[in-house]
Parts: sequence; C-alpha cells; structure tokens
Amino acid sequence: MPTRQSVGEALDAPVTSVRYVTEKRAEALARLDIRTVRDLVCHYPRRYLDFSRTATVADAEIGKEVTVVGTIADVSVKKPRPRLDIVEAGVYDKTGIILGVWFRQPWMARRLSSGQVVAMSGKISFDYGFKRMNSPFIEIIGESEEEADLSRIIPVHGTTEGISTAWMRRLVATALDGLADLPDPLPAELRFRDAFMSRKEALRQIHFPKSAGQRDEARRRLAYEELFFLQLELMRLRAAEETGAGAIAHDAGDEVLERYRSLLPFTLTEEQDAALSRIVEDMRASSVMNRMLLGDVGTGKTVVAGGAIVLAAKSGHQAAMMAPTEVLARQYGQSLGTYLDELGITWATLTSATPASERAEILSGLADGTLSVVFGTHALIEDDVVFKSLSLVVIDEQHRFGVEQRAALRAKGPGSDLLVMTATPIPRTLALTLYGDLECSFLRTRPASRPPTTTRIVSRARRDIAYEAIRAALKEGRQAYIICPLVGVSRKERTDEAARELEDRIAAGEELATLKAAQDEARFLGEKVFATSEVGLLTGRMKAPEKQEVMQRFYDGDIDVLVATTVVEVGIDVPNATVMMIEDAERFGLSQLHQLRGRVSRGQYPGQVFLVADPAEDDTETAERLQALVETDDGFELAERDLRARREGDVLGSRQHGASTLKLVQVLDDAELVARAHDDARAILEADPDLSASEHAGLAHELDEVFSERQMIE
Ligand code: ADP
Ligand code: MG
Repeated sequence: MPTRQSVGEALDAPVTSVRYVTEKRAEALARLDIRTVRDLVCHYPRRYLDFSRTATVADAEIGKEVTVVGTIADVSVKKPRPRLDIVEAGVYDKTGIILGVWFRQPWMARRLSSGQVVAMSGKISFDYGFKRMNSPFIEIIGESEEEADLSRIIPVHGTTEGISTAWMRRLVATALDGLADLPDPLPAELRFRDAFMSRKEALRQIHFPKSAGQRDEARRRLAYEELFFLQLELMRLRAAEETGAGAIAHDAGDEVLERYRSLLPFTLTEEQDAALSRIVEDMRASSVMNRMLLGDVGTGKTVVAGGAIVLAAKSGHQAAMMAPTEVLARQYGQSLGTYLDELGITWATLTSATPASERAEILSGLADGTLSVVFGTHALIEDDVVFKSLSLVVIDEQHRFGVEQRAALRAKGPGSDLLVMTATPIPRTLALTLYGDLECSFLRTRPASRPPTTTRIVSRARRDIAYEAIRAALKEGRQAYIICPLVGVSRKERTDEAARELEDRIAAGEELATLKAAQDEARFLGEKVFATSEVGLLTGRMKAPEKQEVMQRFYDGDIDVLVATTVVEVGIDVPNATVMMIEDAERFGLSQLHQLRGRVSRGQYPGQVFLVADPAEDDTETAERLQALVETDDGFELAERDLRARREGDVLGSRQHGASTLKLVQVLDDAELVARAHDDARAILEADPDLSASEHAGLAHELDEVFSERQMIE
C-alpha cells in the first residue's frame, strides 16, 4: 500500500533535483515561484508557436504583424550614441532576408548567434532596402537547422532573467523525463469514465503537444484536476470548521418573521423572499447551514440577513455579523437596529474603536446571553469575545476575510449556521468553483423602488461638467461623493508616471494616501469649487474614530461633498447622496467601479456617476471597459466581462482561498467541468470523508501538497 510520503515524492522534490538546474538557475526559477519539480511541470506554456500560421519573408506584408521562421545569418551591434545600442540580426529563409532590430537591449547580441533557427514575430516595416521588424519577439527554436524541428508545436513558457525560453523548455522536458512512473492521483473510475489522459501523459502533452487536439485533451484533464482538487479542499475545510458539535435547529415560529417583515418600510422582492425562505429552512434544519448570498450592491442583502438574525435571537440564541470595515459594521446597526429594538432584541456594535468600558459591557452581555446580537469587525474574533450560545454567523463582503478568520468566528459557536454575503456578483459557475462548499442564493435585481443611475465618461479637461452636476444636486439639497484613487499625489503631479508608480506601491500593499495631500485636495475643492458647501474628507489613513465622525456627519447631511479614497467601496449607505465623480477612473477594475457607483441612487432620487478618464488613443481595452459601465448596470454581466478580460485569479482577489491553483481553468467556458468536479468531489467525500481509504492515498497527499502553507499565505 502506498504511503502518503512515497506517492508523488518525485514531484515534491526541490527543483534542484532536476538535471541542469544549477543553484543559479534555481534562483532565477524562484522568481517565477518555481521551487519544486511540481512547480516546474505545472509552469504551463503561456502560448504555443503555431508554424501553420507563419509567413515567408517574401510574403510578409509591410505594416502587418507576422511570424517569420528562418536561420540567423549574422548578428551585429551598433553604437551610434554612447547610450544607444542597436542590435541587428539578419534572418533568412528560402525566399529572402529580413532584419530584426532591437534598441537598448545589448543582451540580445549575446542570446543570438548565426546558424540558430528562430521564429521572429512583429510588425513588418521597410527601410534602407530591407524588410525589418523593430523590437520583435524572437524565439530560438534550435541551435542549428539540423536540430530545429518545425513539425512540432512549440511551447512558449513564461521566463525570467537568466533563463531563456529555450532553456525553460529544456528544463521542463528534463523534469518530465525524470517522472518515469508518476502515479495518478485521480481515482481510476473517474479517469475511465471521462476518458481522461493519465496525468503523466497530460503533463507531457500540455508542454510538448503532438497535435492541437492532444493539447486540448491534456488541458481538459488538467483543468478538471484543478477544479476537482479545489472542490475537495473547500469541502474538507468546511467539514473541519463544523466539527465538534451538532447543529442548532432554530425553533422560533413564523410569527416573528412576519412581524419583522411588517416592520420593514417596503415589501421584500421575490428574490429576497426566496433567499430568506431558504435561509430560514436551513436554520430550522438539524444540519449546519453553509449558505452564500450573492448580490450586487443595493440588492438588499442586509435586510435578508436581518431576517436570519431575528430568527436566531428569537430562538433563544445569538447572532454575530462581521464586516471588513468599521464604517460598514456601524451601518448594520443603522439599518437593522430599529427593527431589532421593536422586536425586543438586544444588540450592540463592537469594533476596535469601541471604548474599553463599553467593550467590557458588551463582552459580559455576550457571555451571559443578555446581549443577543452583535455587529462588528475583526474585533469580534478576539479571544476574549465569548458567546453564551452563538448560533448564527453572518459574514459580509466575505472575500475580504481569510478562511482562518471565518473559521475563528465560527469556532465561538460550535454547530453555528453560516451565512456569507458578497457584493461581487460572480457568475454561477465561478461561484460553484470557488465556493463549492456553500449553497448559493442569488439576488440579481435591485428592489424596483430604486431609481436608475446614469453613468457618463468625461475627460479630465471637462471635469467641470461633473462639478456642475454636483453643484446642481447640492442646490436641490442632495449630497455627492468625489472618489480620488490618487489622493496623495497633487493634481499637477497626476501624470501617468506618478500614477504608475503609485499603482506599484498600492500593488505592493502600501497604503496609498498621505493625509496631507488628501487634505489639500479637499481644501482645494472646498475653497475653489464648492465654496458655499461643506466638503469632508475620508481616507484609509484616518483613524477609526475620525472616520466614524466624518461618516456620521455625511450621514447627517452636515457634509455635502465627501472626498474619499476607496474606503467607501464597501457598503456606505447614504440615500441622499446622488452624484458620484470618480477621478482617474481608468485606474480601477470594472467590478470595483461598479461597486463604487452602487453608492448612489440608494434613496428616492436617480443617481449620476461621472467617470473622469482619458483612455489613451491606442488603449481600446480601457475605453471599452469604461463604456461597458455606461451601457449596463448588470453586475453579473460586468463580472463576466471582467472575467473574460482577465485571469480568474485576479478577479477574485488573491485572498480567495485556492484561487491561485486555478491555472488552466477558464471558468466561463469550463462550466460543465466545474459542475462535474463539484459533484465528483462531493460523492468521494460522502463515501470517504477524510480520504483515508487506501485508494485515496494519492489524492490526500496531492491535496496536502497543492494547498500547502505556502499557497495559503498568498
Ligand atoms: P446591499 O447590502 O445588498 O448592498 P442593502 O441591504 O444595503 O443592499 O439595501 C440597499 C437599500 O435598499 C437600503 O436602503 C434598503 O433599505 C433598501 N431596500 C432593501 N430591500 C428593499 C426592498 N425590497 N424594497 C425597497 N427597498 C429596499
Ligand atoms: Mg451590504
């Protein structure tokens, strides 16, 4: 019987165990996050060179993008100015010669030498009697004509300094050769049912395909594997979260829910109604609820959660609702507090800003059960927060929390029901992929009573259009948001370069706003643009009580125009705010912009959103992205567009557990694989919950490795 250690050992050996991987190359590989043999063989090609679509030199049309395959005749370096190196390589085929030209890339001269067979891709120009390509992408296919094999499909792997594509290919091939008897972790019955290639064959064919058909088969097998493993992992994690106690069957009757509904100033939409009914059903059942409520900003998730909270409290237990920000946590009290009061349910809000004496009171109330409901932030996870009988955990904007945080809160109420909510309206297949461990309820439509929002794009030079709209709204007594992602960079400095540098810093996790510059911006607007109105400022840098105060003043209408960084992204609810101006809109992702604009038209007035942006002439991607916001208000559709344009992992944010293991899956196109992997994982775990059966040893080992510590920290 294979032990967990022996199965797949070769895969988990350090990458230096592969021939040719010297210490130096290992260092270079580490930059690509390749540390083990597994990492190397899972470093899939980014694309493939398709020789069926190359052009001969004679046929290569001026002005067109083409790939030419030929042999290097000679390589020369020119230095017309001290800091300008020009590398030129002449490449010939049977029909003629073409020049590849690289500026300020002296290392090209070292990479290239005569006799090499190359594929060169770029735009054809014509100068000094030669066809040329300026700064083309060049691939060395072989060191000589004898060695080059043009009958094959050539993979192009991502590389890094110190490892050429040719070397990367060789290293991957060598690693694959070393995996002579690689076991297959997929249970045999699944493999046969779907006629999947063996893992070993799939790995070979995805890197060095015999044909496009073989490559597609390989991808299907490996994509299924990614999905299947992720499902198993998520389901196992959830099972671990639930251990220790039986579920709580909530037993409050329908009349409390009826009373709750009658207190609301509106009737629930059909979808809200359906979602709440399912939740109530789950909570009354004697099994643990694991449900996710997905709905765009403004679809009314909070009141649905409110119903669940009422049910928990009226059943004699307690509920905790956790938000990623202080502002949001306070808003639950504002939206639900009065209903709870009416129903005689005690509640409080606990955040890191809660004064010590108040905190002590809340903790003792939760511990002795006199306090039924608590809204809060991460502060709820603290060790000394103890509940008498926590039976419902609600987590809002769940993608902002790690798995451990969710588990930590749940651990305070063994057997408690879980309701997670997200305003990232992702398509069902993606929800199934990433939250395969949860049942999903969707809120697709906003309450009909909500007025529409119009979105417009204005250039920076025409900012005044947006200012004018804001002034008009203020005159009517409304309020406005001005969102500045680049608060911290003065208006003058808001060049592309400054923006890019800032983006890098933000990407590196740095808090973006320096308070001073933000204050300057707010002051500028207050003095020069909205002289007769009150302009307030809210940034991520401010201390919690300060933020809280600003929010309250905006809420109360003391502040007319709120200048903010993206802290308002999550869930601020001020119905009187009707205009939003988003500076530097091209810096935001589609889903984020959509989230932001969800802050307006939350009351009875229609909303207006101005996206201030000047997409570069040649940047059609950005122009189309922004245009999509003008054209549709359907968050699910926008999420799909975001998904098509980017990699799944990006859309989900790296915090989503396991998202980074999806390398080959294309969620939208792989819907069928997703569903199958989900059902298969469930069936396996039903039969063998901890994967202890001997035929699952390989599978168990695989999960341990794929979802090891390193992956989870990401
Ligand atoms: P979400 O949390 O999904 O962004 P909220 O729960 O904050 O949305 O609801 C947005 C706004 O819509 C709130 O002001 C809420 O009172 C209101 N609302 C919720 N449900 C309805 C409904 N069925 N009819 C009318 N208004 C509603
Ligand atoms: Mg909300």
